[in-house]
Amino acid sequence: MKKSAIIALAVLFILSGCQFQNHVHNENGNNSKGANMQTEPGDPPYVTLHQQGVLKERGEALWQRMDSCDLCPRNCGARRLEGERGVCQANSTLEIASHGPHFGEEAELVGNNGSGTIFFTNCALLCVFCINADISQRGYGRVCSVHQLGEMMLALQRRGCSNINLVSPSHYAPHILLALDHAASKGLRLPVVYNTCGWEKADVLPYLDSVVDVYLTDFKYGCNAQAAKYSPGADDYVEVTRQAHLLMHEQVGTLRIDSATGLATRGLMIRHLVMPNDVTCTREIMQWIGNNLPKDTYINIMSQYTPMHRAKDFPEINRRITHHEYRQAVEAAEDAGLTNLHLQGPR
Ligand code: SF4
Repeated sequence: MKKSAIIALAVLFILSGCQFQNHVHNENGNNSKGANMQTEPGDPPYVTLHQQGVLKERGEALWQRMDSCDLCPRNCGARRLEGERGVCQANSTLEIASHGPHFGEEAELVGNNGSGTIFFTNCALLCVFCINADISQRGYGRVCSVHQLGEMMLALQRRGCSNINLVSPSHYAPHILLALDHAASKGLRLPVVYNTCGWEKADVLPYLDSVVDVYLTDFKYGCNAQAAKYSPGADDYVEVTRQAHLLMHEQVGTLRIDSATGLATRGLMIRHLVMPNDVTCTREIMQWIGNNLPKDTYINIMSQYTPMHRAKDFPEINRRITHHEYRQAVEAAEDAGLTNLHLQGPR
């Protein structure tokens, strides 16, 4: 792992008070809304699921699926409950790289005190250009219990964060549901943001219904050949991700913003990272969204692609994008009739 990355993460640990083994054991989870409080207007739907016992049931059901894991489209069958690591490198032991307030997310997620991010170690998509490869593919992180994850969520709420932002959560979905059940029992009431590559299984997403408030997806590829090349093994990326977006939208709808705070309360937010030489098939993505989701679907067209990890082995993606390439991506979205575009780069 690069020294600079280690230092940056160490700083985040310190700033967030996240010295897992010591700090989280000392959290008492107390909150103005304590255990056994009734649901109040405006509480996220997962509070009701917790009170009904459904959140725990769902978490336990997903946990059993780690026996021969099929939690992501890899379906690799790893015996995670016996300690075997899957293609994503995860076994049943939860590993977390960092947690803390994050101010670099979309404005609708940040507010005054930041988005309460929790970065999970490991990832199933295995992108050759991943900017977080130390965490997603090289195993940087610390072992953490489900209880500690729940306490982390409560700690982020106490710090005034706007939401719980779960980054690369899919392979730890069972742990997350059980941790959320614990945190809800001790007063967690923040919206839950599921920050995913979008390559989600259709038979897992129902477990997240009324649990996740905001799906924050990264719709990476519009064509399978490119997905297979830059995310090896994700040959079905397009079909799987399209279906997942339909299901996610069905659950949470178009993004809703609290007019008083400007913060996202519920809905689908789509990111798309523009890459050099249009290896992402951006026009296909935008056309599909325009034809299958509401025209005012929130789309963040991102310009910050930086060649990292193994990008140097692929000359066509081993540079940043040009103004012209960014402009072409924006035009593709406009041509698809999309109206809720959030632009970062020069037009
Ligand atoms: S989540 Fe990991 S272990 Fe489970 S199917 Fe996907 S790659 Fe395999």
